[in-house]
Amino acid sequence: MPTFVRTDKCDGCKGQDKTACMYICPHDLMKLDKDGSETGHAMKAFNQEPEQCWECYSCVKICPQQAIECRHYADVVPLGGSVQPLRGSDSIMWTIKFRNGTLKRFKFPIRTTPEGSIDPYGNKPEADYSKVTDLGFFNEANGYRKGDPSELLKV
Ligand code: SF4
Ligand code: SF4
Repeated sequence: MPTFVRTDKCDGCKGQDKTACMYICPHDLMKLDKDGSETGHAMKAFNQEPEQCWECYSCVKICPQQAIECRHYADVVPLGGSVQPLRGSDSIMWTIKFRNGTLKRFKFPIRTTPEGSIDPYGNKPEADYSKVTDLGFFNEANGYRKGDPSELLKV
């Protein structure tokens, strides 16, 4: 399911040099058509090569206008169906539209801790870069400790 920009919703990220979708795409596929010469829609973004899309949905989630849709290939799902995520601070609301117009929504949590509270290096030993070429720098003897699932999952 590659992504497509809805021109009725996209505002070109208000004319900034780099739009949110261009910034986030790991494959550099999103492009702002500033003068409309490429798509006929000036100041709207578009996916330059949908067939190259990784379908990671980073652009879908970051778009502040919810202007990017995921569309199934017609040979898998009939035309007219769509999947639209709405990102919140702790969950994503997914709206599934079926070809017959039926809508289904479900909310999927994306985090278990308050935003900004994660300390990725908490309780980890400080790296001593002077030893980075030493044998065994990355092994247990030099401070590695096994992961603790209770620190990662809300139990
Ligand atoms: S992030 Fe959304 S609003 Fe901004 S340019 Fe891309 S599609 Fe348009
Ligand atoms: S889904 Fe991922 S790879 Fe595809 S256009 Fe969006 S950010 Fe790029």
